[in-house]
Amino acid sequence: MNAIKNYINGEFINSKNDGEIDNINPATNEKIATIPRSSSQDIQDAVDACNLSKSSWSKLTITERAEWLDKIADELEKRFEDISKLESIDTGKPISLSRNVDATRSVSNFRFFADLARNMETKQFEMSDAINKIVNKPVGIAGLITPWNLPLYLLSWKVAPALVMGNCVIAKPSELTPMTANLLAEVIHQVGLPKGVFNLIQGYGNECGQALVSHPEINLISFTGGTTTGKIVAKTAAPMFKKISLELGGKNATIILDDADLNLHIDNIVRSSFLNQGQVCLCGSRILVHESIYFSFLEMFTKSVSSMKIGNPLNEDTKLGSLISNEHLEKVDSYVKLAIEEGGDVHYGGQRSNLNDDFAKGAFYEPTIIVNLDYKSRTATEEIFGPVVTIHKFNDIEEAIKIANYTNYGLAASIWTQDTTLGEHVAEKLDTGMVWINCWLHRDLRVPFGGVKDSGLGREGGLYSLQFFSELQNICTMNDKY
Ligand code: NDP
Repeated sequence: MNAIKNYINGEFINSKNDGEIDNINPATNEKIATIPRSSSQDIQDAVDACNLSKSSWSKLTITERAEWLDKIADELEKRFEDISKLESIDTGKPISLSRNVDATRSVSNFRFFADLARNMETKQFEMSDAINKIVNKPVGIAGLITPWNLPLYLLSWKVAPALVMGNCVIAKPSELTPMTANLLAEVIHQVGLPKGVFNLIQGYGNECGQALVSHPEINLISFTGGTTTGKIVAKTAAPMFKKISLELGGKNATIILDDADLNLHIDNIVRSSFLNQGQVCLCGSRILVHESIYFSFLEMFTKSVSSMKIGNPLNEDTKLGSLISNEHLEKVDSYVKLAIEEGGDVHYGGQRSNLNDDFAKGAFYEPTIIVNLDYKSRTATEEIFGPVVTIHKFNDIEEAIKIANYTNYGLAASIWTQDTTLGEHVAEKLDTGMVWINCWLHRDLRVPFGGVKDSGLGREGGLYSLQFFSELQNICTMNDKY
């Protein structure tokens, strides 16, 4: 049994608190590790470690810090298979997904931010009698809080820009998925990053997570997680004027116009609905289809969904693994029951997937398609975060836009049409931070990422991350002759 520890001031150590938390493989419901149930005392120790190291870390040049990121990327790449396997065991996701998305992106996040920071230009604005130079200074101590769906992918997306901009870091992963954050700590230890620069605290969100957000010496909080938690984080951090970025939930619309090339795109539309068992904040869980192609779309979509293999996440041909936990499965199932109460029909799926042997107690759920539901219903407007989509008809583009915007969330959307000019016109009318046309989750690491309304506050990604993880200072120098 693996007893995971915290990583503070360059050492793997137990929590000051005696308690521990079981870490469960959701595909088998078996205990695979324990993590410390950390408290505010552990956060204090991590803050003390940051305070000891932040002056020397911030004095390095960006190029020197970028070299550290490259070293981390090199070591992570050597452990590519470990990352893939651990992520699959910890989350229940198919190993092919862990490899292609989680492990690949975790390495590329470090390389990408190293390159971006190295090539960052100092902005200058000349006046007739003076010059303004904008300097990016470290913020100080960055608190990074991440969810369970893309554990190392999202953590690395925060750690890399935070470090390269000269901050010290205290990371708090979800207590449901501690494994790859621990692997990152091992890698950071192995490459010899100066101690105290990166610290990792494991435990419950409402205990050590809350202590992290409320600590007065932590200057910045980057939070990815649910909207309800995001509100607590915002309420705690705002009175202390911390820099804060909130990447929260979504209820994203997939809009299929009447000229969409379904033969070409149907598999990608299915992927956008069910990747990672629908547990991606960007998944399209409301599919809006023009009424003229509604039935042909439904037939093609259902056929493709029914071909997805559910099973052992470590099998290469598995397309759908388990949900994150049996508790989460109950929540997903309760939404399917609610959909029926609200007048919807379960067109496909709608129940726990009963597997045999080692997986009999796993949190497997059938990919589920619900039809004939009012677009204003709770099921069609609240985030389920599981393998459930609702499909709705629309009769013209204005109606599609109205339905798409009829939710408190505003993270992302996708539009499928052969008329990409029309697609862009529709995109601009959507209240979301991101829109894909004829693709989904096609990410250029340079572009801004984030949502509007209940989906969050601020943008990270590319230069937006480098700006968020630094304080801008303008230095205005008068020319000599004046
Ligand atoms: P949660 O909001 O439950 O948890 C997110 C993180 O916050 C976890 O590390 C959690 O710890 C921690 N946490 C919980 N309570 C507090 C608190 N009071 N103070 C500080 N930290 C706290 O989200 P989930 O982990 O369930 O993740 C799923 C959600 O994340 C979905 O809503 C999804 O849409 C969203 N998400 C958004 C993304 C985006 O980019 N917009 C990307 C990915 C996911 P613990 O788990 O230990 O309780």
